[in-house]
Amino acid sequence: MDMVSANEAGRGVPRAVPRLGAAPKAWAGHIESVLLDQGQIQARVAELAAQIEEDYPRGDLTIVSLLNGTVMFIADLVRHLPIPLRLDFMGVSSYRDGTDPGELVFTRDLKLDVSGRDVLLVDDILDTGRTLARAREKLVELGARRVRLCVFLDKKERRATPLEADYVGFLAPDAFVVGYGLDYQEQYRHLPFVGILRPSIHSSALRVEVLFHSYFKELAGCGRVAVDLEPGATLAELRAHVLGLFPKLRPMERSFLVAVGVDYQPGEHQLQPGDEVSFFPPVQGG
Ligand code: 5GP
Ligand code: MG
Repeated sequence: MDMVSANEAGRGVPRAVPRLGAAPKAWAGHIESVLLDQGQIQARVAELAAQIEEDYPRGDLTIVSLLNGTVMFIADLVRHLPIPLRLDFMGVSSYRDGTDPGELVFTRDLKLDVSGRDVLLVDDILDTGRTLARAREKLVELGARRVRLCVFLDKKERRATPLEADYVGFLAPDAFVVGYGLDYQEQYRHLPFVGILRPSIHSSALRVEVLFHSYFKELAGCGRVAVDLEPGATLAELRAHVLGLFPKLRPMERSFLVAVGVDYQPGEHQLQPGDEVSFFPPVQGG
């Protein structure tokens, strides 16, 4: 029974993502869609824990979780495991350049002794497989008796190293996801859901063209300027930025008319890459 993996036994069949949801308003500028909400995550984590408990009924298990992406997953998972276990962490960083994987480096060593032990190695995402293959190799070098793998998400079609996990939460599409511990440039780890990051965020900053009309053109000293903003920036943030760049416009601060393309928009309107924003002077005698 020991040699039967959870997948072979038919209990560990990974779930497909049920359906995409809309991002909460506060994150709509950053997150294209919600892959997994809190309820879906919690239900699946409880199922994974039940499988693990069945496979290690006596416990006596050492869980090694890879930092930092697994913080939320491991915290939820172990709270569903009413068996004796020890928990430790290893730091592995792939020094990603943007969203492309780079060279692997161990940034934190294990504190617990794993020699002769059953180890459950936990990671957030199984992608090309390089991280888990390297981490497992390290545990075997340290004398672990048997190492099983558990991942929250599996991007199956991206595999470069032949490697499968024994416990898989969900099958993930080939998109860059954040939240529930997963980051993009150290942001978004704290989101309680898993979302697909807007490509405009990992491709570049948000570039907007600003057009000055009528006498604003004279005050600004130009008719057009390109402005780079943080992704998800609003029209109000653009206005503040432009006033910082062109102090002569400040006396008219309250009377700008601002249009995105041909539509007037409120301050909270979220700008999109390539938007053209027009600054008009106030209408005389209006
Ligand atoms: P692998 O070595 O399997 O290619 O990569 C696994 C690691 O890449 C994961 O531990 C995770 O940190 C990172 N990774 C892969 N895909 C994604 C993704 O969509 N979002 C985030 N935030 N990290 C990812
Ligand atoms: Mg990681």
